[in-house]
Order: sequence, then structure tokens, then C-alpha cells
Amino acid sequence: MNIHEYQGKEILRKYGVTVPNGKVAFSPEEAVKVAKELGSNVIVVKAQIHAGGRGKAGGVKIAKNLEEVRTYAKELLGKILVTHQTGPEGKEVKRLYIEEGSDISKEYYLSFVLDRATSRVTLMGSEEGGMDIEEVAEHSPEKIFKEVIDPVTGLLPFQARRMAFNMNIPAKLVNKAAKLMLGLYEAFVDKDASILEINPLVVTGSEEVVALDAKFNFDANGLYRHKDIVELRDYDEEDPKEIEASKYDLSYISLDGNIGCMVNGAGLAMATMDTISYYGGKPANFLDVGGGATAEKVTEAFKIILSDPNVKGIFVNIFGGIMKCDVIAQGVITAAKEVGLEVPLVVRLEGTNVGLGKELLNASGLNIVAADSMADGAEKIVELVG
Ligand code: ADP
Ligand code: MG
Repeated sequence: MNIHEYQGKEILRKYGVTVPNGKVAFSPEEAVKVAKELGSNVIVVKAQIHAGGRGKAGGVKIAKNLEEVRTYAKELLGKILVTHQTGPEGKEVKRLYIEEGSDISKEYYLSFVLDRATSRVTLMGSEEGGMDIEEVAEHSPEKIFKEVIDPVTGLLPFQARRMAFNMNIPAKLVNKAAKLMLGLYEAFVDKDASILEINPLVVTGSEEVVALDAKFNFDANGLYRHKDIVELRDYDEEDPKEIEASKYDLSYISLDGNIGCMVNGAGLAMATMDTISYYGGKPANFLDVGGGATAEKVTEAFKIILSDPNVKGIFVNIFGGIMKCDVIAQGVITAAKEVGLEVPLVVRLEGTNVGLGKELLNASGLNIVAADSMADGAEKIVELVG
């Protein structure tokens, strides 16, 4: 789960991490009010969307007075911001963060990520901040430093200081930087984060070390014990189909192809998508209905697939182990009748109660193409979609 920059900074403040003063605003009037309260000479108006690259896309504006704050707030609110992370469709700006301007001497990069190779939280840092870390990794990988953190000891002060030295943070600010890193680490672990990226971390003219941006990503498996984090979820930033799917506990991810997929088991779902691609088709989604799905759940899943206007055909690929084929068949029939199925449907069923499932489908009067195997089904749906 992602949150906005202003929410991330709110969390960081509680861990003693230095961030500029600021507040969220939902209208130009509110933006001006916040700016007045901040009373700073330079005010930064920042678009709040769940994507980075806002600076380059014109989503971060520096205002010199309250009139400029109002102008920029008007300009940004309601604007579709297209950054390299939003995709070409962009994201509408509905919230602004109004923040004190920082007197930046230099920008650095800092992040905590979970390294799957070592199964450890890893601190990454570089003196090449403010830009995409992917670019630094490509052109000057020697400028990215890592500290692997032992979960028993946590981030040790010497590791944080070594990182600060490696990043070429001015010697007299190394201790401040190290303290900030320890605060970030504490927040990361406490909140079950999977990413915490500060890009840029800055050193200011008044010799402060400040987190100027904050990107948090939280591990969905840990959210049950963080009600405070769950409250920060912004549904405006998520795909409505994915929100609907999460209500029914379905693992659904929307993609940009045109073949809807209904599969049970994440592995089989991945293999189904690969097979569709192999035959020249493009999946419209990843969907794992899970092992013990009921007919109602299957009905909802089918409706979600059909609510995507890009879907030109559906491939149901079910291996009934725990899941029974007749339950799937019943769900498909109910949903198809309720929603009115107008696109071709290919079904491949195998496993528990397969005979009963096929009988139900045959008797349903729906126009269903039966497939004998996963490859056969994928080939058929690709052909039907054209
Ligand atoms: P994004 O990563 O989405 O582009 P950032 O928050 O990193 O957004 O802001 C982009 C750039 O804007 C920063 O690298 C920094 O140069 C500038 N900036 C952001 N916030 C401030 C601030 N409070 N004061 C001064 N400059 C800022
Ligand atoms: Mg940034």
C-alpha cells in the first residue's frame, strides 16, 4: 500500500526525522491559509499523487508570495499530471502539500528496501540525489552504497556514519545524517514498510540534514496490525476494479491487454498469462480467485473482469483441487446472465467435479467454447479475440 508524501512526512516527524514544516490543502484558499501560517518567504506547492517524478513534470512549484501560492494551487488542483511513473494516462491532482522552502546546498539519495537476495533490510545511499536512482545505477553504479542490516541488532550507528561518509556528506554533518538514518530505520521497521525512499535528502545552508521527499510503501501482509496506516489509504489513487476485488478478497491486478483471465492459484494465473502471450494475445488482468472461492466470489470476479471496457474475450482456466469445478461453473453462469455476456468465453476445467461443471455449462445456454488444455484454451481465446 502506498501513501502520500505529506502523510509519510507526518509519520517521520514522530520518529525525530527532520522534515520541513508543511500541511495538506484541498483548495487554493486552504493553500493560501496554510502558507500564511507557515510564514516562510519561500513556499513550495507540491502535487500529491502516488507517483514520483513530479518535479520534472511541473508538479512542484516554488512560490515567492501568497498570490503565487494561490496561482500555483489553482493551476495544479484538477490537473492531470503525467510523470514517468504515472503512465501516459497520468493522475489527477486532488491534494496539495504546502511546505516551507528549503535552502538546498546539495541533494542526496537515501532509501531502505527489503533485499530479497539476502532477505534483509538494506540501506542504500548516494551523493547523486534528486534524480532517478535507476539512472545512477546505470551510469555510475560505483556511487551507490549499501549497508545490509542485521535484524537482531538493527541499523548500527557505525553503519549509518559509514554511509554518511560514503555519500560525502560534509564531515560536521555526519552525526546529524546518521541520527536521521536511525530514525528512518525505526519508522521502517515499526510500520512494516517495504520501501522508504528519501529522494532527495538535502543538506541546507543552515547546516541541517532534511528529508525533502518521502515515499513509503507498506507490506500488505502487515497492514492488519497498523490501523493508523490503513486509514491513510487514498482510494482516489487506486484502480476502482482493484478496490472492488479487494472487498471480496480476490487477488486482481488490472493490465492493459484485452483478454480477461479467471484462474485459481497465483502460479497457474501467471502461467496462463504467459501462455496467452505465447499465442500472441495480451492479458487484461491477473486474477487469482483463490482456493476456496464460493459461487458468489466467482460471480463478483467475473463482473469485475467484464467491467473493464478493454476486455474483448475471457479465458477461464481452473484446476479444481480444493476448488470445485461445478462451483466455478455456477459462478460463471450466474455472472454471465446477470451482466449479459457479449464477448467470447473459453473455459478449461480440470479436477474435482469436472464432469458436473461441464454439464452445468452445457445446459446453461451460454455460448461457451470448451478447451481441453491450457494451451488449447489460450490459442482459442487469442483466435476469437482476433
Ligand atoms: P518528485 O520526486 O516527485 O519529483 P520531490 O519532492 O523530490 O518530488 O521534489 C522535486 C524537487 O523539487 C526536489 O529534488 C527539490 O529540488 C525540489 N523541492 C521539493 N521540495 C522542496 C522544498 N520544500 N524546498 C525547496 N525545494 C524543494
Ligand atoms: Mg523525489
